[in-house]
Order: sequence, then C-alpha cells, then structure tokens
Amino acid sequence: MIKDVLAKHGFSFNKQFGQNFITDANLLSAIVNDAGVTKTDTVIEIGAGAGTLTKALSDSCRKVIAFEIDRNLLPVLNETLADSTNVEIIIRDAMKTPMAELEKIAGGKYRVVANLPYYITTPIIMNFVENALNAVSLTVMVQKEVAERLSANSGGKDYGAITVAVQSVADIKVTRIVKRDMFFPSPNVDSAVVRMDFNKNKYDIIDKEFFRKTVKYAFSSRRKQLQNNLSAFFDVTKEKAMELIERTGADKNARAETLSVGQFVKLANLLYEEERLGQ
Ligand code: SAH
Repeated sequence: MIKDVLAKHGFSFNKQFGQNFITDANLLSAIVNDAGVTKTDTVIEIGAGAGTLTKALSDSCRKVIAFEIDRNLLPVLNETLADSTNVEIIIRDAMKTPMAELEKIAGGKYRVVANLPYYITTPIIMNFVENALNAVSLTVMVQKEVAERLSANSGGKDYGAITVAVQSVADIKVTRIVKRDMFFPSPNVDSAVVRMDFNKNKYDIIDKEFFRKTVKYAFSSRRKQLQNNLSAFFDVTKEKAMELIERTGADKNARAETLSVGQFVKLANLLYEEERLGQ
C-alpha cells in the first residue's frame, strides 16, 4: 500500500505543492487509456508524487520522464518504481525548466500526462500550448472548473482568453469527471481529465504573438463591446474595429465571448494586416 510506503519514509504532505495523490488502480489505468499512450510513446509527467501514475504509464509506454519538485518523495519513488527500468525521475521544479531543455530531455515527440498540482495548472498548460514544439498531446487532471473553461463553447461565461488560446492549436475533450474522494488527501473540489491533441495547423494564424495579444485584449473588459476593447488597445477607430468584427461574420456590437475561435483567428489576421498597412 502506498500509504504504508509514505509512512515508512516519514513523508508528510506539503499543501503548498498541491499534493493530492491517486491510488485507485482503475482510475490510474483509465487516465493512461484516456491519454492514448502506446508502447512507442515517450511521456512527460509533471509531479510524480508517490509514483502511482508514473508506474501505470511506464507499463504502457516506451519511456517516462517524471518531474517532481518535492525532494522528500525521492525515497518513496525509489521504492515504488524500483522495478520500472524505463522511468527517469527528475527532482526539479517543472515551471523553472525551460521548454527547450525539457524537449531536449524528451529527445523527440512526446505526450504529457499528469495529475497537475492545482496551483500551477494554467501556467503549465499555457507553457505547452504556447511554447512546445514536439508535444503530441496533453492529458491532464485539473479542477473541474478549469476543465470547463478549457473546453467551453463560445457564448458562455466559461469561454475566455484561455479557451481561445488552447482551442486555436489543439482539439480538446473532457474525458472524465473525477470526484474529490478519489484523491488522497481529498481536495475541496471535484476534478476532470482533459485531453488536448495538438493540431498546430488547425487555423492559419499570420502572427502567433499578435494573435495572443488580440485575444488577451479582446477579453480585457468582458462587459464592454469588443469594438471598445479593440480601439483601446490597437491603433484603430471604433468604426474600423466594427468593420473588422463584421468581416469575421460576427455582429459589429458583439462581445468577445460570442466570437468562435475561427472568428478570433480572422479578426487577429485582419487587425494585423490593418496595423501593417498603417505603418
Ligand atoms: N502524479 C501523482 C501526484 C499528483 S499531485 C498522483 O497522481 O498521485 C501533484 C504533484 O506535483 C505533487 O507530488 C507535487 O509535489 C508535484 N509538484 C508540485 N509543483 C511542482 C512543480 N513545480 N514541478 C514539479 N512537480 C511539482
């Protein structure tokens, strides 16, 4: 039993690190299944914990590279993963590992599979979404509310800048809802597994940085009509902004949350051309 191994090594949970472990064998294999991991895959895991998911992954893939910030877990991991010869444990803050270095360690295409520490869920996902070159997919356990934001459709309150950023480069699916009592210790909210499959050519984005800026500014003040947010941040009049919004197929008085991801791509491309012409 994992709890016995933790006790034997005198491990005490560190709240600050978002440590909510999974021990249920069915749930572990369900996550591996959801991730679509195969024997040829290299998997990066963020937050090995006691190594339960690490072990399940290692049985189904070629290699697991597992980051863990908490050095106190190393003796635990050495015991739980003693028989797993295809696992590399890296005791290091994954957030402080530059993407280029991480991808060098992976050595080629890889999948990310993790029960993410809740306090850095969004920055970790965004780091892969914006900077990864070789990630095939991300399958991550996140708070249910985060899953709802990532997978939202346009028109509702969950749909925001993060939704658009993720869905502009990946196909996303919530694969399961996981009740809080499936974790040890139990968090205060339920969770969900989301799978994002990268598809970088999903949309023709002229300039990625400019697209990000457009989405961020579009949602800067959600109550305002989009034209007002655009004219406040870009060198366009309200009239011009309304014209460009209409050219995406949206209403000229629309709010940002009503535009589809495809419409955001169109809008950013039009704005980009407009700014370039203006110079
Ligand atoms: N995969 C395990 C543990 C999940 S809990 C399981 O499912 O049971 C999240 C883990 O991430 C914890 O072990 C925590 O110590 C670790 N962690 C938190 N912040 C981290 C960071 N910045 N880099 C790497 N690991 C981190």
